[in-house]
Amino acid sequence: MLINLSKLLSGDQETITEQVTLEMEAFVSSIGTFPVVEKRSFPLKVSKIGADKFLIEGETAVTLDIPCDRCLTPVKVEIPLNISREYDKNTVEEEAEDENLIVGYNLDAEQLIYCEILVNWPMKTLCTEACKGICKKCGANLNHSSCTCDTVELDPRMAKIRDIFNNAK
Ligand SMILES: [Zn+2]
Ligand SMILES: [Zn+2]
Repeated sequence: MLINLSKLLSGDQETITEQVTLEMEAFVSSIGTFPVVEKRSFPLKVSKIGADKFLIEGETAVTLDIPCDRCLTPVKVEIPLNISREYDKNTVEEEAEDENLIVGYNLDAEQLIYCEILVNWPMKTLCTEACKGICKKCGANLNHSSCTCDTVELDPRMAKIRDIFNNAK
């Protein structure tokens, strides 16, 4: 969704408030694609605070399906977005995430939310604090089943070889 800022740029208005409805169906980034399971429209306020400088404010939340860090089960994670971003068209870095936030007369609300999700990305995602994760050997989800990888007795022939190694140390 694009927000027309022409009234700000012409000086007719000092602020513009528009109801934003996200089109984004998934958050696509270098670390993966995460489906958007919930989003809500919200008023976004844009103020002109300098020649090419804007203050962008709004409050919303986006809920994404993010895999648990340990067992990879998708977890619904609500990411609160308390937006208060100063944006100066003249000092924005090239190839920064928000480089094309404002192009011409338009503010790209999708790009804004993308940047906000990125900076608010959860440090860790766990299905439960006690998640046991996945067995590294057999791939079993240890929350649902236990595997015998760690407790399995070594093949007697292997045990002999292991003893030889241990004795050699
Ligand atoms: Zn988990
Ligand atoms: Zn296992």
